Amino acid sequence: MYCNQCEQTVKGVACVKTGACGKTPATAALQDLLIYAAQGLSLYAVAARAAGVVDNEANLFTCEAVFSTLTNVNFDDDRLIALMKKAVELREAMKARCTAAGGKTDFPEEAASFTLAADHAGMVEQGEAVNRHAENKSEDPDILSLKEILVYGLKGVAAYADHARILGQEDDVVYAFIQEALVAVLRDDISLDDWVAMVLKCGEINLPAGHGIAGCCQHGGLRSS
Ligand code: SF4
Repeated sequence: MYCNQCEQTVKGVACVKTGACGKTPATAALQDLLIYAAQGLSLYAVAARAAGVVDNEANLFTCEAVFSTLTNVNFDDDRLIALMKKAVELREAMKARCTAAGGKTDFPEEAASFTLAADHAGMVEQGEAVNRHAENKSEDPDILSLKEILVYGLKGVAAYADHARILGQEDDVVYAFIQEALVAVLRDDISLDDWVAMVLKCGEINLPAGHGIAGCCQHGGLRSS
């Protein structure tokens, strides 16, 4: 495992044997694979949106899946596996909707077409393979770092969006950004400056994402009564 997504991380670098939060290497791998599955779903959701199709089930699920990988939110492997299966199911449904709408579907990225392993051990192995630090040993460390910041920022945005949705507030601009950013993390042709801009945009999008959350600490307790 390699997880550096929170301030509890070992020696301020990364949890590599087990999480200081209690997350096991297996759970860390499943969470990485769930993000990867959400990236596959997002490829089609972004293409579908460009073709005029907005699928709110896919949007809400993207937030739920990404939120579930935030620190201390969900260490239940069975639940993570159920979410991954749902992500792949929705990915295929979005692909069909994209095809029907004349949208792009010929993605070379493996996230767009991978098959989930049949059991827990196989999924853990798949998750270990898609961990960005395992996968991108040759990537520019600054860009890898910005990708990490972006993914961790997206987890926060997804958490706010999920809470806001429960309170009856939704904004497709937020869903679109989360999916576009998840897709961007699969790319290796974005410049350092554009990555910085993307990370800053993630900070901006947190504001509409958090609208409607009473007592939200990020928004200074806007509705604290
Ligand atoms: S989320 Fe858990 S495993 Fe990851 S850095 Fe924080 S304490 Fe470590």
